[in-house]
Amino acid sequence: MKTDVAWMKDYLKKHSIKPSTIRIKMLKYLMENRIHPTVDEIYHALLKDIPTLSKTSVYNTLDIFLKNGIVSLVTIEEKETRYDIDTSLHGHFKCESCGEVYDFQVNAENLKEEGIEDFDVLDKKIYYSGICEKCKKK
Ligand SMILES: [Zn+2]
Ligand SMILES: [Zn+2]
Repeated sequence: MKTDVAWMKDYLKKHSIKPSTIRIKMLKYLMENRIHPTVDEIYHALLKDIPTLSKTSVYNTLDIFLKNGIVSLVTIEEKETRYDIDTSLHGHFKCESCGEVYDFQVNAENLKEEGIEDFDVLDKKIYYSGICEKCKKK
């Protein structure tokens, strides 16, 4: 994954987002940390780099990213909103033991939906939960 500044600027512009410093740094963070971070996690990770950062600007930036389709929301638990830079259809597995959220691939062509043929689908989410491999070995 390319995360050089020129590429990121271009990527933001392509999605009609003006590439400000905060936006570029947030994009870089999201691309390099595929952990489905929460606002808090993003805020604390970037604070070292941008001491003037506020939580509001993290929220606002994520909101713009969301509206322009470069991040998607991961809401496995209602109280906990996470952000995902991967907007393609993939599944999420949340480990009940360590709390980590894993990505897994799904074969979209094999997905068979029945009974909603005439519905407009705006969003698809695939969530699993359980115990991850790492925790099982403990
Ligand atoms: Zn685990
Ligand atoms: Zn994901």
